[in-house]
Parts: sequence; C-alpha cells; structure tokens
Amino acid sequence: MTRFVDVHNMVRWVAARGPEAIIAEMIGYLEDDYRRWERFDKTPRVASHTPYGVIELMPTSDHETYGFKYVNGHPSNPSRGFQTVTAFGVLANVHNGYPTFLAEMTVLTALRTAATSAMVARKLARPDARLMAMIGTGSQSEFQALAFRAALGISSLRIWDTDPAAMTKLVRNLVPLGFDVTIASSAADAVLGADVITTCTADKTEATILTADLVVPGVHINAIGGDCPGKTELDSTVLGLGDVFVEYAPQTRVEGEIQQMPADFAVTEFWQVLGNQAPGRTSTAQITIFDSVGFAIEDFSALRYARDAVEGTDFYADIDLVANPEDPKNLFGLVGALSPVGS
Ligand code: NAD
Repeated sequence: MTRFVDVHNMVRWVAARGPEAIIAEMIGYLEDDYRRWERFDKTPRVASHTPYGVIELMPTSDHETYGFKYVNGHPSNPSRGFQTVTAFGVLANVHNGYPTFLAEMTVLTALRTAATSAMVARKLARPDARLMAMIGTGSQSEFQALAFRAALGISSLRIWDTDPAAMTKLVRNLVPLGFDVTIASSAADAVLGADVITTCTADKTEATILTADLVVPGVHINAIGGDCPGKTELDSTVLGLGDVFVEYAPQTRVEGEIQQMPADFAVTEFWQVLGNQAPGRTSTAQITIFDSVGFAIEDFSALRYARDAVEGTDFYADIDLVANPEDPKNLFGLVGALSPVGS
C-alpha cells in the first residue's frame, strides 16, 4: 500500500500543527538534505512550455529514496479562476521502485518555498533585519511572511501588488496573525527602509519589478517569482550590485534571474554556504540576492518531512496505487480471474 495525503488531510494537518511551526520544522529537513547535497542525483527539471504556461517534472534521489514533483506554472490562470501553481509529489523505495508516499503539493510547495527562502535568509540577511517589502501578494505571499517571522523574527511588512484585491486579501489573512502590514503605493514605495525584499510576482515576461535605484546597501533580496525561461523580475543591473546565491546553477542559469547574464556569471550554490565551503554575508553593507527557482531536493525534503510528520496520525490514508499480484510474474492473473468466460 502507498501512504496518501490528499488535500483534505494536508489542510487538516497544516491547520492542526500550524503553518509557522511546520515551516520551522521543515527548515531542519531542508538543512539536513542541503548538507548532504553531493549525495543526491541532480538534474535541471524537465519542462514542457506552451503559451499557456509550463508543466514540469522535478526528480531526485539519495539512492535510498527517489522522489519527484509534478508542478505547473500558469501566470494567466487566476484571471480564468485557476491557481498559477498546483502540484503533487511522490517518494519511492529505491531498492524495489515501489512508491511509498503520495501527497498533494500545492499547499506543500508554498510551505517548502517559504521554508527554503527562510533557510537561505537566515544565513544571508542581516541578523538585525526587521522590515520586509513584499512585491506580489498572491498565493505564495502569506507563507513567505510566516517563514520570515519563524526564522528571522520579521513581523513588519510593506506590500505592493498591481492587484489591490490581492493586497487586501494579504492584510485580511496576516493582520489577525499579529503582522504589522503597510500597503504601499508602488514597488519603489514598498522597498523604503526594507531590510529584506521579497519579489513573488507571476507574469510570463521579462518583467522589471525591481530596478537598481531601489536597492540599498545591506539589503537581502529574496527573488522567488522568476522561475522559467523568459520570466524574470529583477532588472539585470540589480544582479551586478551584490552577490548572487542559487540552488542548482545548471537549472538557475536557464530559469532564474541570471538567465539575463553571461553563462559564466559568478554565482554561489547555497549548499556551499550552509556547509561553510563558501562565504555568505561578509559585511553589513553587502547586498545579497537569492535567485530562487525551486529545486527538486527541496520537494524531496518537504515530502520526507510530511511523511514523517503524519506517521501515527489520521492525516493519511493507505491507497492501492500499485498492482501487487501474489505471483509477481502473473499480472494477468489479476484481470484474467475477472474476465467473463466465453464472452
Ligand atoms: P499568484 O498568481 O497567486 O500571485 C502573483 C501576484 O503577482 C498576483 O497577485 C499579481 O497581481 C502580482 N503581480 C504580477 N505582476 C506584478 C507586478 N508587475 N507588480 C506587482 N505585482 C504583480 O502566484 P503565486 O503562486 O503567488 O506565485 C508567484 C510566483 O512565484 C510565480 O511566478 C510562481 O511561478 C513562482 N513560484 C516560485 C517558486 C520557487 O521555488 N522559486 C515556488 C512557487 C512559485
């Protein structure tokens, strides 16, 4: 049998445990996997691009467990009543190839993206960071805010979105949770005085959400929205202002902000910072930029955490996902026994 966490159970589990606590615990799993980065099979995700958006498969393996996520990115979806991003994911035993765990990952992806941003910011943002600007207040935004509070203690936000209803929604969701939220009048207004700038907009264009004149010394930029070819958020000059940190360079050079830069543009893979093999923030005035696109190992960590966390609870069901004939060579026996004789 395969353990299955559907949307209903994922939502029950997140509500019962609390998203902030989940993000904090998930950071531990992410750090464990980032520390053993070199042990994983790694490949840029497999993407199918169309004018509607992109559908992607994101596989990895630590040679004991194999995992993959199915995810889409369709920026025009909300105007048609669909979400921009939806996903599900699987873990399987490497020794026999059988899937052991299947989960909804639309909610889980928002949690893992936020946990990843927070893991990175904990190393790269100034420890005294207190104010975050958020440009783009769609589906990912509240999760990002919760993650930065859990990991860095940031509870003051200045927000900007071209859709006023999206900003009102964020205020409605986060003010009751104790956040201090200011609605800005533009991206330039939002970043005033910010120690961290999170960009999480969705538009399948080379957008310029942040220009160099808006970036001041000491700021940490958490750029999560630009994540496929032809979809960026930062003006290319911003990338020259500081040090750029990425998940897996071969994928980010195709999908991230650095697709705008020459192929040999210098970046640091974050696992090296976590493992003290490369410097992170080296001065108060340094500008640090996390060019996030989302990498398969993060989904692996999120699935591993969810699998362990629901153990012994009623937040999952066992489902019959893989045909399992008594004689492993007699698959036909499963269906042959049901066939009406002579029909
Ligand atoms: P969403 O569609 O729910 O929200 C995006 C928001 O951006 C919308 O409210 C929209 O009005 C706003 N926006 C668009 N253009 C803007 C502009 N020029 N200025 C200000 N606001 C603008 O999408 P989402 O699920 O929140 O995802 C946001 C982005 O993050 C997407 O591009 C998605 O692909 C990406 N994403 C990245 C990762 C990662 O790991 N890096 C993970 C998940 C999603």
